[in-house]
Amino acid sequence: MAVKTPVYLDNNATTPVDPRVLEAMLPYLREHFGNAASRSHSFGWTAEAGVEKARRQVAELIHADPREIIFTSGATESDNLAIKGAAEMHREQGNHIVTCQTEHKAVLDTCEYLARHGFEVTFLKPDSDGLVAPEQVADAVTDRTILITLMTANNEIGTIHPIAEIAAAARRKGALFHTDATQAVGKIPIDVQAMGVDLLSLSAHKIYGPKGIGALYVRRRQPRVRLAIQMHGGGHERGLRSGTLNVPGIVGLGAAAEICGREMPEESRRLTGLRDRLHRGITEALDEVTLNGHPTRRLPNTVNLSFAYVEGESLMMKLSDVAVSSGSACTSASLEPSFVLKALGVGDDLAHGSIRFSLGRFNAAEEIEYAIQKVVAAVRQLRELSPLYEMARQGVDIKTVKWGQE
Ligand SMILES: *Cc1c(COP(=O)(O)O)cnc(C)c1O
Repeated sequence: MAVKTPVYLDNNATTPVDPRVLEAMLPYLREHFGNAASRSHSFGWTAEAGVEKARRQVAELIHADPREIIFTSGATESDNLAIKGAAEMHREQGNHIVTCQTEHKAVLDTCEYLARHGFEVTFLKPDSDGLVAPEQVADAVTDRTILITLMTANNEIGTIHPIAEIAAAARRKGALFHTDATQAVGKIPIDVQAMGVDLLSLSAHKIYGPKGIGALYVRRRQPRVRLAIQMHGGGHERGLRSGTLNVPGIVGLGAAAEICGREMPEESRRLTGLRDRLHRGITEALDEVTLNGHPTRRLPNTVNLSFAYVEGESLMMKLSDVAVSSGSACTSASLEPSFVLKALGVGDDLAHGSIRFSLGRFNAAEEIEYAIQKVVAAVRQLRELSPLYEMARQGVDIKTVKWGQE
């Protein structure tokens, strides 16, 4: 069977909308166009019913009460609302926040903003697999700590944190616990009760829903979490997030959540198989390939590999019909390699030579075979041009080589 190209293996960046999600949304873009806040006619009631169904669907996926779901424009806004909202609300109790170096920019930049405005932020360093240990968190917490924010699963390497243990450590010290679960929701079981989290961010476009819609889970009991409002206005979403609701988007998020809940066990098994096939296919054909991230505590769809003696951007260029992400940021203004890989202690060369493959619902086995062939061929070609690789193969220790210029 011929593979349709380009092959999309960048599902941690965004996912295509599931056709079933689109079907659920369409009526709300056509005849059910009402404003969910209109109380006086059926247009409003129909829109509101769509929103409330979606609220139940999202709540069910993470084992929350529907009243604990606040719709936002995506995980970036959810992270901002959770972190700034908690920090501002609890300013009297303390000014210390704990997070880690490998968080998404939506969390890191929000914390850095607060650090410029009188808050103290501890950025914990993960181990070489990307894991932060519960003891690290417990040790960092002081009686001034008001919030701990730690992602459930990392977007670049897929490492999954032991959130329940870490949240328990936070709770013993009386701090609130927020997790950016954008990459974990829909891929692994999430239970806000079992995990003991107070705030949780998620986004539709990472789970086969539309872009520009997400949610924040805000615990209502034990404790009842209170946040300072970040978006003032008409008092929508229990006053926590004003603005006319994006009804089609919300309906899409709800449908996407329901499908994930139903299909997760089977999909997760299938993607783990494809992911491991991709990893094995590449490492059986090539030497000097290392896995970034935890070998087992990892998302079923994610494999991040470093190819020694290869530059990630050149590799991506050669892989023009396989869409992936590289750990090298040469295309942007800086030459800095991925800060996530750096935090893990991966050297600059290997970080520059890294590729993230993130699989998704619509990837077929043939696409994985195609990607293996393409990656292996591309890496071989690039290494043929690499004198360093040639020397290493002949047993020369690169570190002892005396270069002409020295
Ligand atoms: C994609 C992503 C975000 C941002 O989500 P948006 O809905 O695009 O704002 C935040 N955190 C993580 C971990 C992500 O993967």
